Amino acid sequence: MIDLLNLNKKDLRAWLAEQNEPAYRATQIERWLYSELVIDFDAMTNLSRDLRKRLSESARIGTPKLVAEKKSADGLTHKALLQLDDEQTIETVLMLYPDAPEQSEPGDAKRRTVCISTQVGCPIGCPFCATGQAGYIRNLTPGEIVAQVLHFARALKPESLTNIVIMGMGEPFMKFGVTWQAIETLTDPERFGLGARRITVSTSGEIRGIERMAREKLEINLAVSLHAPDDELRNALVPLNRKYPLKDLLRAVRDYTKKTHRRVTFEYALMDRVNDSPGQARALAQILKGLLCHVNLIPLNPTIATTYERSPRERVKQFQKILAEAGVPTTLRVEKGIEIAAGCGQLRQSKAKENSA
Ligand code: SAH
Ligand code: SF4
Repeated sequence: MIDLLNLNKKDLRAWLAEQNEPAYRATQIERWLYSELVIDFDAMTNLSRDLRKRLSESARIGTPKLVAEKKSADGLTHKALLQLDDEQTIETVLMLYPDAPEQSEPGDAKRRTVCISTQVGCPIGCPFCATGQAGYIRNLTPGEIVAQVLHFARALKPESLTNIVIMGMGEPFMKFGVTWQAIETLTDPERFGLGARRITVSTSGEIRGIERMAREKLEINLAVSLHAPDDELRNALVPLNRKYPLKDLLRAVRDYTKKTHRRVTFEYALMDRVNDSPGQARALAQILKGLLCHVNLIPLNPTIATTYERSPRERVKQFQKILAEAGVPTTLRVEKGIEIAAGCGQLRQSKAKENSA
């Protein structure tokens, strides 16, 4: 049975035409799906009873099932474990920032961000990441990616989401077309309609995706997971580096900034005595010299199956100071929801452990 969330604009129109429905039905249905956030056809009250019946016989609205949820003690981070039709599970996280000024709606002083997954597991296998440790099962469909946003959009009603980060489980550029279709649905004014600048996609360094994104018109933000200033260390921490070494990755990012004039974020998870020395900070500043970028320093979120530990505060501060002195802008990620295992793939990992115990 067809999942309506999997149909892009053109396909939805073609599908309705096959059912002998007039073109304006598509816009009506899109309103129900992406603005009214309904989960069944009976709620689509401006469609005839007969059409609703026919729709429910041939199509469905993919709605993953909430199988576990954790909220942080301050109530600002909500982590959902969602079950898909084939019983695979993925993680989606809502992060509330009550004091953060909104980027373009100053009247509303809150930011509400959802972090979504693009794959069940991840084939890249970064050893410090809970998702990487769990292995790879499959790619999500565009509908399954969008459904995660709709899940929290429904939960938040009447408030709305302000930002989306594609930083959950999986490498989003492994199947660029799938991720991009989801992004188009999320930004289309007749669909979910979030501003492109409110969306950030994070890649572990899939160069072909960076190149394709540079050619797209939508002004989505790009983040690249760097985590190491040299190939030897990055080969170990982000194994995709063996395919796309730093020189090639940085060249692709440089081309991207030249084409788009947009600043790229480099993510750098600080691991005690692995990638956090003053020499490594200097080496990082050296390779990023002259690039339109900023570095987001993330204190490592320890996972169950790893030997890596978070850098102590002094080393984080020292690392940040060296970058700042070399003229590289940095931010230190506010840690959210560590106690609810809010790091990528960690709720799924702790559930799997419970089930096998
Ligand atoms: N797969 C993509 C996007 C999802 S991960 C990527 O790797 O970019 C989002 C970010 O969280 C990445 O920078 C990733 O390296 C980082 N990350 C993964 N596990 C982490 C952990 N245990 N602690 C801190 N950051 C982690
Ligand atoms: Fe995959 Fe990103 Fe985790 Fe690496 S950090 S294993 S690329 S999800």
